[in-house]
Amino acid sequence: MNVLVVGRGGREHSLVQKFAESDQVERIFAAPGNAGMSKIAECIDTSEQDFDRLVAFARENNVGLTVVGPENPLLDGLVDAFQEAALRVFGPTKAAALIEGSKHFAKQLMHKYEIPTAGYEAFSNVEAAQSYIKEKGAPIVVKADGLAAGKGVVVAETVEEALSAVEDMLENGQFGDASREIVVEEFLAGEEFSLMAFVNGSNVYPMIPAKDHKRAFDGDQGPNTGGMGAFAPVQALHNSSYAFAVEEIVKPVAAAMVEEGRPFTGILYAGLIETSEGPKVIEFNARFGDPETQVVLPLLENDLVQVVNDVLDGKNPELTWSEGVCAGVVVASAGYPGPYEKGRPLPELEADDGFVVHAGTAWESGKYVSSGGRVLLIGNKGEDLAQALDRTYQSLRPFEDQSDFFYRRDIGRSSVSSAAS
Ligand code: ATP
Repeated sequence: MNVLVVGRGGREHSLVQKFAESDQVERIFAAPGNAGMSKIAECIDTSEQDFDRLVAFARENNVGLTVVGPENPLLDGLVDAFQEAALRVFGPTKAAALIEGSKHFAKQLMHKYEIPTAGYEAFSNVEAAQSYIKEKGAPIVVKADGLAAGKGVVVAETVEEALSAVEDMLENGQFGDASREIVVEEFLAGEEFSLMAFVNGSNVYPMIPAKDHKRAFDGDQGPNTGGMGAFAPVQALHNSSYAFAVEEIVKPVAAAMVEEGRPFTGILYAGLIETSEGPKVIEFNARFGDPETQVVLPLLENDLVQVVNDVLDGKNPELTWSEGVCAGVVVASAGYPGPYEKGRPLPELEADDGFVVHAGTAWESGKYVSSGGRVLLIGNKGEDLAQALDRTYQSLRPFEDQSDFFYRRDIGRSSVSSAAS
Protein backbone atom coordinates (compact mmCIF):
# COMPACT_ATOMS: atom_id res chain seq x y z
CA MET A 1 0.00 0.00 0.00
CA ASN A 2 1.12 3.55 -0.64
CA VAL A 3 0.86 5.94 2.31
CA LEU A 4 0.74 9.74 2.32
CA VAL A 5 1.70 11.79 5.38
CA VAL A 6 0.61 15.44 5.27
CA GLY A 7 2.89 17.84 7.15
CA ARG A 8 6.50 18.97 7.50
CA GLY A 9 7.51 18.74 11.17
CA GLY A 10 9.03 16.32 13.64
CA ARG A 11 5.70 14.67 14.33
CA GLU A 12 5.32 13.82 10.65
CA HIS A 13 8.92 12.58 10.35
CA SER A 14 8.22 10.26 13.25
CA LEU A 15 5.07 8.98 11.49
CA VAL A 16 7.05 8.40 8.30
CA GLN A 17 9.71 6.49 10.28
CA LYS A 18 7.05 4.27 11.83
CA PHE A 19 5.31 3.64 8.51
CA ALA A 20 8.68 2.74 6.98
CA GLU A 21 8.91 -0.21 9.41
CA SER A 22 5.70 -1.72 8.03
CA ASP A 23 5.82 -4.68 5.63
CA GLN A 24 2.53 -3.50 4.20
CA VAL A 25 3.94 -0.23 2.85
CA GLU A 26 5.27 0.08 -0.67
CA ARG A 27 5.80 3.81 -1.14
CA ILE A 28 5.65 6.59 1.43
CA PHE A 29 4.92 10.14 0.34
CA ALA A 30 5.22 13.25 2.48
CA ALA A 31 3.56 16.54 1.58
CA PRO A 32 5.59 18.67 1.75
CA GLY A 33 7.89 16.76 4.13
CA ASN A 34 11.35 17.93 5.21
CA ALA A 35 15.00 17.10 4.54
CA GLY A 36 15.01 14.25 7.07
CA MET A 37 11.89 12.70 5.63
CA SER A 38 13.29 12.86 2.11
CA LYS A 39 15.73 10.04 3.03
CA ILE A 40 12.90 7.54 3.52
CA ALA A 41 9.88 9.11 1.81
CA GLU A 42 9.17 10.82 -1.49
CA CYS A 43 8.56 14.46 -0.65
CA ILE A 44 6.03 16.31 -2.76
CA ASP A 45 6.33 20.05 -3.13
CA THR A 46 2.73 20.79 -2.07
CA SER A 47 1.38 22.90 0.74
CA GLU A 48 -0.71 21.18 3.43
CA GLN A 49 -3.44 23.67 2.53
CA ASP A 50 -3.65 22.85 -1.19
CA PHE A 51 -6.50 20.36 -0.88
CA ASP A 52 -7.15 19.98 -4.62
CA ARG A 53 -3.53 19.03 -5.31
CA LEU A 54 -3.37 16.66 -2.37
CA VAL A 55 -6.55 14.87 -3.46
CA ALA A 56 -5.36 14.68 -7.07
CA PHE A 57 -1.94 13.40 -5.96
CA ALA A 58 -3.48 10.69 -3.78
CA ARG A 59 -5.69 9.55 -6.66
CA GLU A 60 -2.93 9.56 -9.26
CA ASN A 61 -0.45 7.75 -7.04
CA ASN A 62 -2.70 5.03 -5.75
CA VAL A 63 -2.44 6.21 -2.15
CA GLY A 64 -4.30 3.72 0.06
CA LEU A 65 -4.04 5.67 3.31
CA THR A 66 -3.49 9.34 4.14
CA VAL A 67 -2.64 10.61 7.63
CA VAL A 68 -2.82 14.33 8.39
CA GLY A 69 -0.36 15.76 10.94
CA PRO A 70 -1.07 19.45 11.57
CA GLU A 71 -4.22 21.11 12.90
CA ASN A 72 -4.76 23.82 10.29
CA PRO A 73 -5.65 21.58 7.34
CA LEU A 74 -7.85 19.48 9.65
CA LEU A 75 -9.78 22.54 10.79
CA ASP A 76 -10.09 23.70 7.21
CA GLY A 77 -11.62 20.40 6.07
CA LEU A 78 -8.84 18.36 4.42
CA VAL A 79 -10.34 15.11 5.71
CA ASP A 80 -13.75 16.11 4.34
CA ALA A 81 -12.14 16.74 0.92
CA PHE A 82 -10.54 13.26 0.95
CA GLN A 83 -13.78 11.63 2.08
CA GLU A 84 -15.74 13.38 -0.68
CA ALA A 85 -13.23 11.95 -3.15
CA ALA A 86 -13.76 8.48 -1.59
CA LEU A 87 -10.11 8.34 -0.48
CA ARG A 88 -9.13 6.57 2.73
CA VAL A 89 -7.93 9.10 5.29
CA PHE A 90 -7.24 9.06 9.03
CA GLY A 91 -8.12 12.28 10.83
CA PRO A 92 -11.14 14.22 12.07
CA THR A 93 -13.56 16.05 9.81
CA LYS A 94 -13.79 19.82 10.06
CA ALA A 95 -16.85 19.44 12.34
CA ALA A 96 -14.99 17.11 14.71
CA ALA A 97 -11.73 19.10 14.67
CA LEU A 98 -13.63 21.96 16.33
CA ILE A 99 -12.74 20.31 19.63
CA GLU A 100 -9.29 21.85 19.05
CA GLY A 101 -10.35 24.83 16.92
CA SER A 102 -12.65 26.43 19.48
CA LYS A 103 -11.81 26.42 23.17
CA HIS A 104 -15.32 27.67 23.90
CA PHE A 105 -16.81 24.70 22.05
CA ALA A 106 -14.55 22.30 23.96
CA LYS A 107 -15.48 23.88 27.30
CA GLN A 108 -19.22 23.75 26.52
CA LEU A 109 -18.90 20.11 25.57
CA MET A 110 -17.06 19.27 28.79
CA HIS A 111 -19.56 21.24 30.86
CA LYS A 112 -22.54 19.52 29.21
CA TYR A 113 -21.09 16.02 29.64
CA GLU A 114 -19.56 16.67 33.08
CA ILE A 115 -15.99 16.00 32.05
CA PRO A 116 -13.54 17.36 34.65
CA THR A 117 -11.96 20.64 33.62
CA ALA A 118 -11.30 24.13 35.02
CA GLY A 119 -14.35 26.33 35.73
CA TYR A 120 -14.77 29.02 33.05
CA GLU A 121 -16.82 31.71 31.33
CA ALA A 122 -16.63 32.78 27.68
CA PHE A 123 -16.72 36.44 26.66
CA SER A 124 -16.72 38.69 23.64
CA ASN A 125 -17.22 41.84 25.68
CA VAL A 126 -14.23 43.49 27.38
CA GLU A 127 -16.06 44.96 30.39
CA ALA A 128 -17.90 41.73 31.16
CA ALA A 129 -14.65 39.72 30.99
CA GLN A 130 -12.82 42.24 33.16
CA SER A 131 -15.45 42.36 35.87
CA TYR A 132 -15.48 38.54 35.97
CA ILE A 133 -11.70 38.57 36.46
CA LYS A 134 -11.92 41.18 39.23
CA GLU A 135 -14.52 39.06 40.96
CA LYS A 136 -12.49 35.82 40.67
CA GLY A 137 -9.00 37.24 41.36
CA ALA A 138 -5.62 35.84 40.28
CA PRO A 139 -4.01 33.56 39.31
CA ILE A 140 -6.40 33.15 36.40
CA VAL A 141 -6.07 32.02 32.78
CA VAL A 142 -7.13 33.95 29.67
CA LYS A 143 -7.38 32.04 26.37
CA ALA A 144 -8.15 33.09 22.81
CA ASP A 145 -10.99 30.93 21.51
CA GLY A 146 -9.34 29.90 18.23
CA LEU A 147 -5.94 28.66 17.07
CA ALA A 148 -3.08 31.00 17.92
CA ALA A 149 -0.03 28.80 17.29
CA GLY A 150 0.35 28.02 21.00
CA LYS A 151 0.56 31.74 21.93
CA GLY A 152 -3.08 32.38 22.74
CA VAL A 153 -2.94 31.43 26.41
CA VAL A 154 -1.99 33.82 29.21
CA VAL A 155 -1.54 32.29 32.65
CA ALA A 156 -1.90 35.53 34.60
CA GLU A 157 -0.25 35.81 38.02
CA THR A 158 -2.01 39.09 38.75
CA VAL A 159 -5.41 40.62 38.02
CA GLU A 160 -3.70 43.45 36.08
CA GLU A 161 -1.97 40.99 33.78
CA ALA A 162 -5.28 39.23 33.09
CA LEU A 163 -7.07 42.52 32.43
CA SER A 164 -4.48 43.58 29.89
CA ALA A 165 -4.59 40.15 28.20
CA VAL A 166 -8.35 40.68 27.78
CA GLU A 167 -7.71 44.08 26.22
CA ASP A 168 -5.04 42.71 23.87
CA MET A 169 -7.23 39.88 22.69
CA LEU A 170 -10.72 41.40 22.54
CA GLU A 171 -10.02 45.09 21.95
CA ASN A 172 -6.73 45.10 20.03
CA GLY A 173 -7.49 41.94 18.03
CA GLN A 174 -4.14 40.40 18.98
CA PHE A 175 -4.97 37.10 17.28
CA GLY A 176 -7.47 38.37 14.70
CA ASP A 177 -10.55 36.17 14.37
CA ALA A 178 -9.07 33.67 16.82
CA SER A 179 -9.51 36.16 19.68
CA ARG A 180 -12.92 37.64 18.84
CA GLU A 181 -14.05 35.49 21.70
CA ILE A 182 -12.09 34.44 24.79
CA VAL A 183 -12.38 31.90 27.56
CA VAL A 184 -11.46 32.97 31.10
CA GLU A 185 -10.62 29.95 33.16
CA GLU A 186 -9.80 28.92 36.71
CA PHE A 187 -6.06 28.32 37.31
CA LEU A 188 -5.27 24.66 38.00
CA ALA A 189 -2.12 23.55 39.84
CA GLY A 190 -0.45 20.17 39.31
CA GLU A 191 1.72 18.06 37.02
CA GLU A 192 0.76 18.15 33.35
CA PHE A 193 0.72 15.13 31.09
CA SER A 194 -0.60 14.26 27.65
CA LEU A 195 -2.72 11.33 26.67
CA MET A 196 -3.24 10.51 23.00
CA ALA A 197 -5.71 7.92 21.76
CA PHE A 198 -6.66 6.36 18.45
CA VAL A 199 -10.36 7.09 18.10
CA ASN A 200 -13.14 6.10 15.73
CA GLY A 201 -16.52 7.31 16.93
CA SER A 202 -16.98 5.92 20.42
CA ASN A 203 -14.14 3.37 20.02
CA VAL A 204 -11.11 4.60 21.95
CA TYR A 205 -7.66 2.94 22.02
CA PRO A 206 -5.39 4.89 24.37
CA MET A 207 -1.64 5.22 24.01
CA ILE A 208 0.84 5.46 26.86
CA PRO A 209 0.90 8.82 28.72
CA ALA A 210 3.61 11.31 27.77
CA LYS A 211 5.06 14.48 29.20
CA ASP A 212 6.35 17.39 27.19
CA HIS A 213 8.25 20.49 28.26
CA LYS A 214 6.84 23.63 26.69
CA ARG A 215 9.03 26.39 28.14
CA ALA A 216 12.15 27.41 26.24
CA PHE A 217 14.71 27.26 29.06
CA ASP A 218 15.81 25.06 31.94
CA GLY A 219 13.74 25.14 35.09
CA ASP A 220 10.59 25.77 33.04
CA GLN A 221 11.68 29.36 32.48
CA GLY A 222 11.25 31.58 29.45
CA PRO A 223 8.52 31.74 26.83
CA ASN A 224 6.27 28.90 25.70
CA THR A 225 7.43 26.99 22.63
CA GLY A 226 6.08 24.19 20.47
CA GLY A 227 7.81 21.83 22.92
CA MET A 228 11.46 21.35 23.88
CA GLY A 229 11.49 17.68 24.81
CA ALA A 230 9.33 14.83 26.00
CA PHE A 231 9.31 11.36 27.45
CA ALA A 232 6.92 8.43 27.71
CA PRO A 233 5.47 6.68 29.56
CA VAL A 234 5.05 8.91 32.61
CA GLN A 235 5.84 6.35 35.26
CA ALA A 236 5.25 8.78 38.13
CA LEU A 237 1.60 8.99 37.12
CA HIS A 238 -0.64 6.94 39.38
CA ASN A 239 -2.28 4.02 37.58
CA SER A 240 -5.58 5.24 38.94
CA SER A 241 -5.05 8.66 37.33
CA TYR A 242 -4.30 7.05 33.98
CA ALA A 243 -7.39 4.84 34.23
CA PHE A 244 -9.47 7.85 35.27
CA ALA A 245 -8.20 9.88 32.30
CA VAL A 246 -9.12 7.07 29.90
CA GLU A 247 -12.47 6.10 31.43
CA GLU A 248 -13.76 9.45 32.68
CA ILE A 249 -12.24 11.84 30.17
CA VAL A 250 -11.23 10.44 26.77
CA LYS A 251 -13.95 7.79 26.35
CA PRO A 252 -16.80 10.08 27.46
CA VAL A 253 -15.55 12.88 25.20
CA ALA A 254 -15.48 10.56 22.18
CA ALA A 255 -19.01 9.42 23.04
CA ALA A 256 -20.09 13.04 23.50
CA MET A 257 -18.81 13.94 20.02
CA VAL A 258 -20.92 11.12 18.56
CA GLU A 259 -23.92 12.36 20.55
CA GLU A 260 -23.37 15.89 19.24
CA GLY A 261 -23.40 14.68 15.64
CA ARG A 262 -19.64 15.34 15.26
CA PRO A 263 -18.17 11.83 15.48
CA PHE A 264 -14.40 12.02 15.85
CA THR A 265 -12.01 9.81 13.91
CA GLY A 266 -8.27 10.23 14.26
CA ILE A 267 -5.99 11.03 17.16
CA LEU A 268 -7.62 12.68 20.12
CA TYR A 269 -5.03 14.36 22.31
CA ALA A 270 -5.95 15.31 25.85
CA GLY A 271 -3.71 17.84 27.61
CA LEU A 272 -4.29 17.00 31.27
CA ILE A 273 -3.23 18.21 34.67
CA GLU A 274 -3.14 15.99 37.74
CA THR A 275 -4.79 18.18 40.39
CA SER A 276 -5.43 17.28 44.02
CA GLU A 277 -8.95 16.35 42.86
CA GLY A 278 -7.66 14.06 40.09
CA PRO A 279 -6.91 14.67 36.40
CA LYS A 280 -8.63 17.59 34.68
CA VAL A 281 -8.56 18.72 31.06
CA ILE A 282 -6.45 21.71 30.00
CA GLU A 283 -7.14 21.31 26.29
CA PHE A 284 -7.99 18.89 23.52
CA ASN A 285 -6.10 18.63 20.26
CA ALA A 286 -7.42 16.87 17.19
CA ARG A 287 -4.11 15.32 16.09
CA PHE A 288 -0.83 13.76 17.18
CA GLY A 289 1.11 15.92 19.65
CA ASP A 290 4.56 17.26 18.85
CA PRO A 291 7.01 16.26 20.40
CA GLU A 292 5.00 13.56 22.26
CA THR A 293 4.56 11.50 19.09
CA GLN A 294 8.34 11.29 18.64
CA VAL A 295 8.72 9.50 22.01
CA VAL A 296 5.50 7.47 22.00
CA LEU A 297 5.68 5.84 18.55
CA PRO A 298 9.16 4.26 19.11
CA LEU A 299 7.59 2.23 21.95
CA LEU A 300 4.63 1.04 19.88
CA GLU A 301 5.23 -2.58 18.89
CA ASN A 302 2.38 -2.82 16.39
CA ASP A 303 2.56 -2.08 12.69
CA LEU A 304 1.17 1.47 12.43
CA VAL A 305 -0.52 0.85 9.07
CA GLN A 306 -2.36 -2.10 10.57
CA VAL A 307 -3.33 -0.06 13.63
CA VAL A 308 -4.77 2.79 11.59
CA ASN A 309 -6.59 0.44 9.22
CA ASP A 310 -8.03 -1.54 12.13
CA VAL A 311 -9.23 1.61 13.82
CA LEU A 312 -10.82 2.84 10.58
CA ASP A 313 -12.49 -0.57 10.11
CA GLY A 314 -13.92 -0.57 13.64
CA LYS A 315 -11.61 -3.37 14.84
CA ASN A 316 -9.59 -3.34 18.05
CA PRO A 317 -5.93 -2.80 17.02
CA GLU A 318 -4.74 -4.42 20.28
CA LEU A 319 -1.93 -2.01 20.95
CA THR A 320 1.20 -3.41 22.58
CA TRP A 321 4.02 -1.36 24.02
CA SER A 322 7.71 -2.09 24.61
CA GLU A 323 9.01 -2.16 28.15
CA GLY A 324 11.12 0.81 29.16
CA VAL A 325 11.03 4.52 28.54
CA CYS A 326 11.69 6.72 25.52
CA ALA A 327 13.00 10.27 25.90
CA GLY A 328 13.65 12.98 23.32
CA VAL A 329 15.28 16.41 23.48
CA VAL A 330 14.70 19.14 20.91
CA VAL A 331 17.62 21.07 19.43
CA ALA A 332 16.45 24.57 18.54
CA SER A 333 17.97 27.51 16.68
CA ALA A 334 19.54 30.12 18.99
CA GLY A 335 16.91 32.82 19.55
CA TYR A 336 13.87 30.53 19.20
CA PRO A 337 10.96 31.11 19.86
CA GLY A 338 11.95 34.69 18.97
CA PRO A 339 13.84 35.60 15.78
CA TYR A 340 16.61 33.21 14.73
CA GLU A 341 18.93 32.61 11.79
CA LYS A 342 18.38 29.86 9.25
CA GLY A 343 20.88 28.02 7.08
CA ARG A 344 23.29 27.19 9.92
CA PRO A 345 25.16 23.92 9.29
CA LEU A 346 24.41 21.03 11.62
CA PRO A 347 27.30 19.11 13.19
CA GLU A 348 27.88 15.52 12.11
CA LEU A 349 25.98 13.05 14.25
CA GLU A 350 27.65 9.82 15.28
CA ALA A 351 26.20 6.54 14.04
CA ASP A 352 24.98 5.33 17.44
CA ASP A 353 23.23 8.56 18.25
CA GLY A 354 19.87 7.12 19.22
CA PHE A 355 17.24 8.20 16.78
CA VAL A 356 16.99 11.54 15.07
CA VAL A 357 13.74 13.19 14.05
CA HIS A 358 14.00 16.19 11.77
CA ALA A 359 11.73 19.23 12.04
CA GLY A 360 13.36 22.40 10.64
CA THR A 361 16.19 21.13 8.44
CA ALA A 362 17.13 21.54 4.79
CA TRP A 363 19.69 19.70 2.67
CA GLU A 364 22.20 22.05 1.04
CA SER A 365 25.44 21.20 -0.76
CA GLY A 366 25.59 17.72 0.70
CA LYS A 367 24.85 18.62 4.30
CA TYR A 368 22.00 19.40 6.65
CA VAL A 369 21.40 23.02 7.60
CA SER A 370 18.77 24.53 9.89
CA SER A 371 15.58 25.90 8.36
CA GLY A 372 13.30 26.39 11.36
CA GLY A 373 13.07 27.22 15.06
CA ARG A 374 12.87 23.66 16.25
CA VAL A 375 15.53 21.93 14.20
CA LEU A 376 15.47 18.30 15.27
CA LEU A 377 14.87 15.95 18.15
CA ILE A 378 17.33 13.36 19.37
CA GLY A 379 15.89 10.49 21.35
CA ASN A 380 16.76 7.18 22.94
CA LYS A 381 15.07 4.32 24.65
CA GLY A 382 16.23 2.99 28.02
CA GLU A 383 15.21 0.57 30.72
CA ASP A 384 14.04 3.55 32.73
CA LEU A 385 13.81 7.31 32.36
CA ALA A 386 17.27 7.93 33.82
CA GLN A 387 18.90 5.63 31.27
CA ALA A 388 16.88 6.99 28.34
CA LEU A 389 17.92 10.53 29.32
CA ASP A 390 21.58 9.67 29.90
CA ARG A 391 21.78 8.11 26.45
CA THR A 392 19.98 11.05 24.87
CA TYR A 393 22.26 13.62 26.46
CA GLN A 394 25.29 11.57 25.31
CA SER A 395 23.90 11.68 21.78
CA LEU A 396 23.53 15.46 22.04
CA ARG A 397 27.26 16.02 22.57
CA PRO A 398 27.90 17.23 19.01
CA PHE A 399 25.57 20.16 19.79
CA GLU A 400 27.09 20.96 23.17
CA ASP A 401 29.32 23.87 22.17
CA GLN A 402 27.38 25.10 19.18
CA SER A 403 26.42 28.76 19.51
CA ASP A 404 23.93 28.46 16.65
CA PHE A 405 21.80 25.97 18.57
CA PHE A 406 20.55 25.30 22.08
CA TYR A 407 18.69 22.60 23.94
CA ARG A 408 17.31 22.16 27.43
CA ARG A 409 19.59 20.29 29.82
CA ASP A 410 16.84 19.27 32.24
CA ILE A 411 14.25 17.36 30.20
CA GLY A 412 12.67 14.74 32.48
CA ARG A 413 15.09 15.52 35.32
CA SER A 414 12.47 16.44 37.94
CA SER A 415 10.65 13.17 37.18
CA VAL A 416 13.88 11.21 37.67
CA SER A 417 14.50 12.91 41.02
CA SER A 418 10.91 12.38 42.19
CA ALA A 419 11.14 8.69 41.19
CA ALA A 420 14.37 8.38 43.22
CA SER A 421 12.98 10.07 46.33
P1 ATP B 1 -0.70 24.33 22.30
O1 ATP B 1 -0.89 25.05 21.03
O2 ATP B 1 0.73 24.25 22.74
O3 ATP B 1 -1.41 23.03 22.35
P2 ATP B 1 -2.65 26.06 23.42
O4 ATP B 1 -2.37 27.39 22.88
O5 ATP B 1 -3.77 25.30 22.83
O6 ATP B 1 -1.34 25.21 23.44
P3 ATP B 1 -3.23 25.32 26.18
O7 ATP B 1 -2.59 23.99 26.03
O8 ATP B 1 -4.67 25.41 26.48
O9 ATP B 1 -2.87 26.28 24.96
O10 ATP B 1 -2.39 26.06 27.31
C1 ATP B 1 -1.00 26.25 27.22
C2 ATP B 1 -0.37 26.05 28.58
O11 ATP B 1 -0.93 26.99 29.51
C3 ATP B 1 -0.67 24.68 29.19
O12 ATP B 1 0.23 23.72 28.79
C4 ATP B 1 -0.57 24.98 30.68
O13 ATP B 1 0.77 24.96 31.11
C5 ATP B 1 -1.08 26.38 30.78
N1 ATP B 1 -2.52 26.39 31.15
C6 ATP B 1 -3.58 26.38 30.32
N2 ATP B 1 -4.74 26.35 30.99
C7 ATP B 1 -4.41 26.34 32.31
C8 ATP B 1 -5.16 26.30 33.54
N3 ATP B 1 -6.49 26.33 33.55
N4 ATP B 1 -4.47 26.29 34.70
C9 ATP B 1 -3.12 26.29 34.72
N5 ATP B 1 -2.36 26.34 33.61
C10 ATP B 1 -2.98 26.35 32.41
